[in-house]
Amino acid sequence: MSNATDVVIVGAGIVGAACAYEFAKRKLSVQIVDEGVIAGGATAASMGHIVLMDDSLPQFALTNYSQTLWENLREQFPSNVEYDRCGTIWIARDDVEIVELRRKFTFLREHFVDSEIFDTQALQEAEPNLCKPLAGGLLVRQDFVIYPPAAVSFLLEEARKLGARVCLGNRVVAIGNGEARLANGTVLAARFIVNAAGQFATKLVPGIKMEPRKGHLVITDRYLGFVRHQLLELGYSKSARSAAGASVAFNVQPRKTGHLLIGSSRQFGAAGTEVEPGILSQMLNRAFQYLPELKNLSAIRAWTGFRSATPDKLPLIGPWPQDSTLYLATGHEGLGVTTSLATGRILCDQILGIQPSIPIEPYLPSRQIGGA
Ligand SMILES: Cc1cc2nc3c(=O)[nH]c(=O)nc-3n(C[C@H](O)[C@H](O)[C@H](O)COP(=O)(O)OP(=O)(O)OC[C@H]3O[C@@H](n4cnc5c(N)ncnc54)[C@H](O)[C@@H]3O)c2cc1C
Repeated sequence: MSNATDVVIVGAGIVGAACAYEFAKRKLSVQIVDEGVIAGGATAASMGHIVLMDDSLPQFALTNYSQTLWENLREQFPSNVEYDRCGTIWIARDDVEIVELRRKFTFLREHFVDSEIFDTQALQEAEPNLCKPLAGGLLVRQDFVIYPPAAVSFLLEEARKLGARVCLGNRVVAIGNGEARLANGTVLAARFIVNAAGQFATKLVPGIKMEPRKGHLVITDRYLGFVRHQLLELGYSKSARSAAGASVAFNVQPRKTGHLLIGSSRQFGAAGTEVEPGILSQMLNRAFQYLPELKNLSAIRAWTGFRSATPDKLPLIGPWPQDSTLYLATGHEGLGVTTSLATGRILCDQILGIQPSIPIEPYLPSRQIGGA
């Protein structure tokens, strides 16, 4: 069969956009299809924190690689991407958490990440609105923040300049055997189909093991300088790793505009998109413990979104073993904005038969077939 297009990508969120950008840059013909608008899914609901995470070595490798790819693009960002290299401070409340803080610091140092431990006083000077006393903090200087919907527009615009076609308002109802079938009956043929449909990837490929994990966010009015870094409690990783139920963790982000984003919550088994007052108040109370003055600021909006969580908390990047034309780019949970560029790069390497820059076995979808 001869196909007009090399790759059809389903989903114009940050992951699909990063794939389209990478494929187009490497001279593959690309069509990206979304049932809605660009970045209308989890991407629009997210914080846009481009963060190094070290819950596992593969997670660290992917976040680190992708952060570098983002950083390399920085000069090209339009101003609406709101790149802000504010850094992250991980906060330790007590002496128990200081032990974990030191472990993290040692790990990051061993991997050449620019980081610094703050004692109680240095933390207070860095972030005067934090409660007192706190045991200490760990500054990771290279973490930064972007505005994800604008980043998607940027990536798709760059892909378009290189010939990619973007087709919105078209639902894909079936994929496989080098075809994507649209709800209006059109069949798009391609050498490769990439499933980047976020939490809905399982509807198109039912064998994928992945669950939606609901999250809430709140945005305040503008309070420039109220916090200066992205602030996270050390327990955030524990909340992200938990395998069931609901959890909240302190996570506050300063936007360049002066707004503050307040997170975060994680819930399995919560299908509705509504804001849940019980979860919201748990999340805000957690934030007030760390930033007491926050309760005197005005919140202007709250919303929810769904992370796509795999059982092993790693994304699915690569061929789907049951169909040689089908590739997955999904399952990024709470790190899809951070790891999108690496996902596009790794996927394109695989399709072109080029050795990727990092080991890719931990992300291959084949681990879900016949396994746990
Ligand atoms: C509250 C919250 C905060 C977060 N904060 C961060 C953060 O700070 N940093 C970070 O790195 N990550 C963060 N994340 C995670 C991040 O948002 C996701 O991992 C990422 O956006 C996933 O991108 P995606 O492109 O895979 O999915 P999505 O953005 O959901 O895009 C999927 C697209 O596929 C389309 N689609 C689905 N089905 C079909 C179909 N059948 N036909 C056509 N189109 C279809 C949808 O319309 C959608 O546009 C956060 C997530 C949440 C919920």
